Amino acid sequence: MKIDHLGIAVKEISSALGFWGDALGLENVHEEEVEDQKVRVAMLPIGETNIELLEPTAEDSPIAKFLEKRGGGIHHIAVEVEDIAASLSKMKSEGFRLIDEEPRIGAGGCLIAFVHPKSTGGVLMELVEKQNGNEGYQE
Ligand code: ZN
Repeated sequence: MKIDHLGIAVKEISSALGFWGDALGLENVHEEEVEDQKVRVAMLPIGETNIELLEPTAEDSPIAKFLEKRGGGIHHIAVEVEDIAASLSKMKSEGFRLIDEEPRIGAGGCLIAFVHPKSTGGVLMELVEKQNGNEGYQE
C-alpha cells in the first residue's frame, strides 16, 4: 500500500502554488474540477505520492466549510487500495463508520470513498482505487 496523496484545503490554488510550486519546486501536473465534491483540485507529485490542493467551487462545498472552521491545512490522507469495494465492506462489517458506503468517482477518474474521522482517531481518510492503467494523475 502507499499514500496516494495528502489533501490540503486552500482558498485559492493559484496563490497556494506560490509556495508549493514556486518556493518548494513541485510541479502542478493535473488540475480538474470534481463537481460531485464541489472542489477544484491540483495534483503535485512528490516522490511516490502527491500533494492535492483543494479549492472550494461553491459556498456549500465541504472544503469551504473546512476553511471557515479551520482556515485551511491538511484536510485528508488518501491511501491507495487494490479493491476499494472489499476494503469498504471489511471496514463496515468491523463497525467502522464510512462517509461513502459506495465508491464514487474522484480526481483522475479514480474510485474513491471517505472514512469518517470518528473511526480513525480524528483523521479524515480517503481510499483510492486506480482504474485500469491509470497509475497517476499525469496526462
Ligand atoms: Zn483526496
